[in-house]
Amino acid sequence: MSIREIHHCSVCGTCYKVQLHHVAFRSQAPLLKNISLNFKYLCNEHHQGKNGPHKNRYVDLTYKLELQDKLIELFSKDFYTEKEIQELLNTTSSTARKICKRLRLYKGGYRNKELVKRLMGDRIYTQEELKDVEYEDPWGGVLK
Ligand SMILES: [Zn+2]
Ligand SMILES: [Zn+2]
Repeated sequence: MSIREIHHCSVCGTCYKVQLHHVAFRSQAPLLKNISLNFKYLCNEHHQGKNGPHKNRYVDLTYKLELQDKLIELFSKDFYTEKEIQELLNTTSSTARKICKRLRLYKGGYRNKELVKRLMGDRIYTQEELKDVEYEDPWGGVLK
């Protein structure tokens, strides 16, 4: 991220004290640490505050489900080659190689569902998990 670049908080739109958040944390999904799809710019309050993804599980899960949906949409075919994965994720060949390393290679390439799961940190997030923490919903089921 260049210093000159101005980013706005994706929740409130301010450009004051905006930080880069990794939707799937680096510890959870190391393969996504340099993938821009996993970036979310948030102001200090919406990042570290009580309704930010590090303090509020509902917010965290909502962002993760959004990211997962984007990945599912991006990889809508059944199979992808390493090169296609690199291009679609706009990443380097070494990152693409790392992503594919532990994936099973089928005749048609790497399977989209296994790929998304791998990217998300070897797990798939579900709406059920979100329901479990509904009491933490800071938007009251209205705003997002
Ligand atoms: Zn904000
Ligand atoms: Zn963060």
